[in-house]
Amino acid sequence: RSAFYCFAREQLPGLRGRGVPVSRVVDAIPYCSQAWALLPKEERIIYMEMAHKENRKNGSQKTVTEVKAERGTPFNVVAAVVVNTIMNVAQLIIWVQVEAVTADIFYFLNIYSHGKLPSHCEQRFLPCEIGCVKFSLQDGIIADFHHFIDPEVPPCGFRYHCQAASDATHKIPVSGFHLPCASYAVVLQELLDFVQPARDAQPQFYCRVWSKPEFRVSWCLNRMASQTGIVKHLELLAVEDLVTELYRKKYKEEPSKTWVCRELDVFLWDFCSNTRCKWHEENDIVCCALASCKKI
Ligand SMILES: [Zn+2]
Repeated sequence: RSAFYCFAREQLPGLRGRGVPVSRVVDAIPYCSQAWALLPKEERIIYMEMAHKENRKNGSQKTVTEVKAERGTPFNVVAAVVVNTIMNVAQLIIWVQVEAVTADIFYFLNIYSHGKLPSHCEQRFLPCEIGCVKFSLQDGIIADFHHFIDPEVPPCGFRYHCQAASDATHKIPVSGFHLPCASYAVVLQELLDFVQPARDAQPQFYCRVWSKPEFRVSWCLNRMASQTGIVKHLELLAVEDLVTELYRKKYKEEPSKTWVCRELDVFLWDFCSNTRCKWHEENDIVCCALASCKKI
């Protein structure tokens, strides 16, 4: 048992009362993470004591095999990651506040496509949604930028492939989308206005690189630039390197790659309001380019 487990267990009756389909504690996790993150320290302590008491009681009643089996359940793994992530991110922000870096502005960028086409295709991606957030450690998210992008027509024979890839992720229709979509020219120009770099400075964006979406993001940016003639050198940097650098600043040592990836893969905010764009929020679809930036 963890403190978070005890907390989630107590939320079950309330969630059921609101019609949320939760039969076990594990089902309640996505609905409880935000409330847990916001819970005052003194209230968390109550749950920590509760977990401690239960563990002591269970420990005296169970065999070693039972305890081992319980530790190995997927729920325990999930709960540990959730709690650990809240603590680590919060601590990281507090710890680096003394450094000058707290006022630095970072831009996190992501572009979604209607799938990925094979390497023999000239058209590798069909950009359909872009999200970007302006962030500083001291102020959090300062501003955000979002557009659905008017996609190009899929290459002959690939329409089904593109729609299937979309259906499995962001679910934006390949054609006939009822919401306004911006042209490449509008997207690029407004993105440049959004970052408003100092004269002659090159805009720098951070995106996920280790898990490879950077290839998609850079390909899409280049495609939009080549199709519109808007030429501006945009620098894409690895957000993983940024996290590593912040960690190094505080701890004076290198974080493990696993730790960095785990921090960035956090699903804690997947079901929070105000992370996704309006359409993805209304349709309750987790994959949203804007949300992926806000969750960083
Ligand atoms: Zn969205």
